[in-house]
Amino acid sequence: MSNILVYELDNKIYINLTNKCTNDCIFCLRNDKDDVKGQELWLDDENSTAQDVIKQLKNFELSDEVIFCGYGEPMLKLEVLKDVAKYLKENYPNIKIRVNTNGHANYVFKRNVVPELKGLVDEFSVSLNGVSSEEYERLSQPKFDGAYEEVKKFIKACSDEGISVVASVVEGYKGQHLDLEKCEQICASLGAKFRAREWIQGGY
Ligand code: SF4
Repeated sequence: MSNILVYELDNKIYINLTNKCTNDCIFCLRNDKDDVKGQELWLDDENSTAQDVIKQLKNFELSDEVIFCGYGEPMLKLEVLKDVAKYLKENYPNIKIRVNTNGHANYVFKRNVVPELKGLVDEFSVSLNGVSSEEYERLSQPKFDGAYEEVKKFIKACSDEGISVVASVVEGYKGQHLDLEKCEQICASLGAKFRAREWIQGGY
């Protein structure tokens, strides 16, 4: 088997850097499925380099947008992500680069990494997943304490840096509903746009 580091979905190109994550969300797709539309995103190992990703990128036609999002938290591979984004910006300057993240990176790396991504990432989509730490912990099952506050701080760090940031929630997981109005207020207070993504069983 070979590692699928780059895959295509609905005419967009996605990059799957890792299977590690500091959350264990109850709605995480990888709990239910081994693939996204037939593309197996479980990796054989965690050793892939930026060159490995770039090699696979060359097999695809790149047009509008490239999204770092796979079966794991892409920001855990910060240096690889930065190198790949740099390659894309240098070779495909018109392509939008988005990172879908759980927003834990500044906690993990013990520094504000957002300024390092200015000019490389056009938009962050950060999983807010709740209006309180209790709700966040129930839905996202983070592997460290204080994660909800870290997520909010990360969102604010993005907007402070002038990088577009969307904070998202998964709405309606197995009939569980969030206070979307309050979520939106929290996003606005952090300088983020808000997106509620409806949970679809076995969806993506
Ligand atoms: S943050 Fe994303 S990859 Fe990590 S457990 Fe949650 S849904 Fe899955």
